[in-house]
Amino acid sequence: MPKAPKTAITPTRAENYPEWYQQVVKAADLAENSDVRGCMVIKPWGYAIWENIQRQLDAMFKATGHENAYFPLFIPMSFLEKEAEHVEGFAKECAVVTHHRLEPDGQGGLQPAPSAKLEEPLIVRPTSETIIGATFARWVQSYRDLPILINQWANVVRWELRTRMFLRTTEFLWQEGHTVHASEDEALAETRQMLEVYAEFAEGVMAMPVIKGEKTAGERFPGAVATYSIEALMQDRKALQAGTSHFLGQNFAKAQEIKFQNVDGELQFAWTTSWGVSTRLVGGLIMTHSDDDGLVLPPKLAPAQVVILPVYRNDEERANVMPYCETLKEELASQQYAFETVRVRIDDRDLRGGDKRWQWIKRGVPLIMEIGPRDIADDKVFVKRRDIEGKGEAIPRDEVVGTVANRLAEIQQALFDRAVALRNEATVEIDSLEEFEEYFAERAPGGLAHCHFVDSPTMEAKLKELKCTVRCVPLDAQTESGKCIFTGEASERRGVFARAY
Ligand code: AMP
Repeated sequence: MPKAPKTAITPTRAENYPEWYQQVVKAADLAENSDVRGCMVIKPWGYAIWENIQRQLDAMFKATGHENAYFPLFIPMSFLEKEAEHVEGFAKECAVVTHHRLEPDGQGGLQPAPSAKLEEPLIVRPTSETIIGATFARWVQSYRDLPILINQWANVVRWELRTRMFLRTTEFLWQEGHTVHASEDEALAETRQMLEVYAEFAEGVMAMPVIKGEKTAGERFPGAVATYSIEALMQDRKALQAGTSHFLGQNFAKAQEIKFQNVDGELQFAWTTSWGVSTRLVGGLIMTHSDDDGLVLPPKLAPAQVVILPVYRNDEERANVMPYCETLKEELASQQYAFETVRVRIDDRDLRGGDKRWQWIKRGVPLIMEIGPRDIADDKVFVKRRDIEGKGEAIPRDEVVGTVANRLAEIQQALFDRAVALRNEATVEIDSLEEFEEYFAERAPGGLAHCHFVDSPTMEAKLKELKCTVRCVPLDAQTESGKCIFTGEASERRGVFARAY
């Protein structure tokens, strides 16, 4: 029997995708489970990716007129009660603080001191519409105070029952944008604009193609009038909701009393929006690009875009190789790629060359450069691209420096193209229930199915049975008359269906 090619990650994607995901996270040293159920420790390599996400998104928020601020971690329980749908949506996953002191329990342990019970419990924020809304109510008096365009980088807690590193954790890191407007049109435009920013970031920086669309009523953010999302397709053909932008209408303004005097001197309720992406993006990144040798990072998010591995056998060789590597590093690091200087590291740890190389492969570094005495004699550098199979090639040193930005750009584009091709291959239009059932049958690969539909209990029941979900109605969906594949009712637009994370 032919021997299967050895991969750095076992199991492979084909063998067991969920387990492969966990192993990639581990092998790339991104994160680990913590002592607290559902909460993870984000390790330096994983956190550096998040920092790169933050920095580039933050710049996009600022370029669209937003400012950062910070609001409390705790929300008084009564605040949550004010918006009925909102509380219903979040009540079942809230962490509640009830005491402010511990005391000995008489058996050598501790207990919350009964005398230190809070009069009103505090909720650890699952999202901050209510507390930020209450603050905005104080900031807004007149139309001259509008719009308010605020973003917060923070952690939130949702008591999720089934957790998975990065994709769904109990505590997660995110940004939440909150804005207030004088008119409905302006608030809607903001909601759409931020969806656009997310899509641009996902495709342009993460190299992850996304579908922009509107969620159905059942999938709406609790309390929102409309929820828009970006949806990505992972390599196992399951969809991932990667970011959301909510048009909140006047619901929260009414609940929080965000009122202003308009140009005519009349008092009226404002219009608000909120939008967020989280550390889930790191999970999406992993599942979009990585392979059976581990993580594959798009250059724009790689903490190191180039790793130089000096190769030598003794001190004499080292004295020759290291200075060469140092100067190369300096020169590479003075090149510009995507408005930043190239991020380069030298790995001179006392480790076997092969082990070292594999560590960086598993961590997804876009370019690995190996340099030994023979390369130096030829004035060449051995360059290996992470995103393509093969051993790599020896390239003249000056060319390596002069073309590093181009090479990174090529990798960034190649990853995007590959992800688009995969998505196209896994996308179909389906016009009958039989076909739909076949497409999402238990052992079928599935994918993205564009179908005519009318939201109904019949559809919900069928989707539940097939473990399938409606992702969104794409914003660019053409108007065409058709029939709901579940009920036969007339439908104007296709929605996207998929199994999902
Ligand atoms: P939402 O406030 O529910 O619209 O969620 C805002 C963003 O956070 C979305 O992009 C979600 O994908 C993401 N998100 C929601 N719940 C979790 C979770 N438990 N872990 C990580 N990310 C999450």
